[in-house]
Amino acid sequence: MTQDIHNSQSWHQRAQQVIPGGVSSPVRAFKSVGGTPRYFVRGEGSHIWDVDGNEYIDLVGSWGPMIVGHAHPQVVLAVTEAAKLSASFGAPSPNEVLLAEEIISRVPTIERVRFVSSGTEAVMTAVRLARAATGRALIVKFAGCYHGHSDALLVQAGSGVATLGLPNSPGVTEGQAQDTLVLEYNNLQQLQELFATRGSDIAAVITEPVPANMGVVPPIENFNATIAAITKQHGAIFIFDEVMTGFRISRGGYFAAHHTEGWVPDLFTFGKVIGGGYPVAAIAGGAQIMELLAPTGSVYQAGTLSGNPVATAAGLATLQLCDEALYKTLDTRAAQVGSAISEALAAEGVAHQLQNDGNLFSIFFTDQPVRNFADASKQNTKQFAAFFNAMLENGVSIPPSAFEAWFVSGALSDSDCERISRVARISAKHASQFSHS
Ligand SMILES: *Cc1c(COP(=O)(O)O)cnc(C)c1O
Repeated sequence: MTQDIHNSQSWHQRAQQVIPGGVSSPVRAFKSVGGTPRYFVRGEGSHIWDVDGNEYIDLVGSWGPMIVGHAHPQVVLAVTEAAKLSASFGAPSPNEVLLAEEIISRVPTIERVRFVSSGTEAVMTAVRLARAATGRALIVKFAGCYHGHSDALLVQAGSGVATLGLPNSPGVTEGQAQDTLVLEYNNLQQLQELFATRGSDIAAVITEPVPANMGVVPPIENFNATIAAITKQHGAIFIFDEVMTGFRISRGGYFAAHHTEGWVPDLFTFGKVIGGGYPVAAIAGGAQIMELLAPTGSVYQAGTLSGNPVATAAGLATLQLCDEALYKTLDTRAAQVGSAISEALAAEGVAHQLQNDGNLFSIFFTDQPVRNFADASKQNTKQFAAFFNAMLENGVSIPPSAFEAWFVSGALSDSDCERISRVARISAKHASQFSHS
């Protein structure tokens, strides 16, 4: 099949005249995989269509939010009903209360939720809150974990930063970078050593519950529990960044699925799924720390569009569709798609690792298991690029980077999975034409 991508090409030329690199977020520009980014105009269920009329099975799902598929009738209805009543008041409205109640009902230990418009903002606020609560400056993060693009967290981050091979971004001052200490993921010894020497200066440790912004890298046993214990022991705050995993890994996210283990994060951040494709994110936690936020407390945080009635209506409608049956479907589909890709690559002798936590999975183009960012960086990105482009040309859209998770939706059908499998076999042949190192 050869696609006509004439219109995508001309939109991308126009875009580059008016938007830096032609994109509103860097990975979308396809720099690490080559070729022309497609300009999309429509989605329905598991399928999306570009400006040239080409149809794709979508395994990006807007990087997570489209968990129930595109333009789900119940979400569309909720949004249009809300939009008819006004886009925004800049004042309290019921939908944000309903969404906060829904989040609290799903995640044990959470008592308060503050809404913002992006995951970046949520994490930024969590960091400020942790520093205010402890009176300390240092933030500890793990290499390859992405926590949005705020200055303090844009140090050895994953996602687009990893894709573009940027160690740290220019424009982040030395002072800001100095207050962020970066450790290797899954390395408990480094964490213990750091706390032994600087424990009383550390405001917070932030981690993804299961990192998914360098590809999916499950934590070793007790990793999150140990962070919880060591932060508690030293009076630091444990920030659990569930922007990706929240309401994706289970109906309450990662922590909800693990809370019987007896450890508890102090602060949570959410985004992606809770907006159902609209700009909603949140910071959440127990009442005591959360009430430090203004206006009860003195830690300032605000937003013109925060808790927006249309966006929170979309989030609420989406979460209402996220029941146990959906997560069962997602787990099954992720396993089907993951093993189809893995079998196709194996048949062509392409070295790879299929790694997952529940329905969140990724394929690393390397012959060794990936436990941290250094391992992830050993991938054969040329092979990935060949695989990616063949998938896309044959109507399957996967993340345009070897350092990202893949996202299934509840709308995937048996025939979608069969087509993915067929296209994967073709694409694996393309990948195999690149040498193994
Ligand atoms: C996507 C993501 C963010 C940033 O969210 P944005 O809405 O893109 O600002 C932060 N943390 C994690 C874990 C993410 O996956």
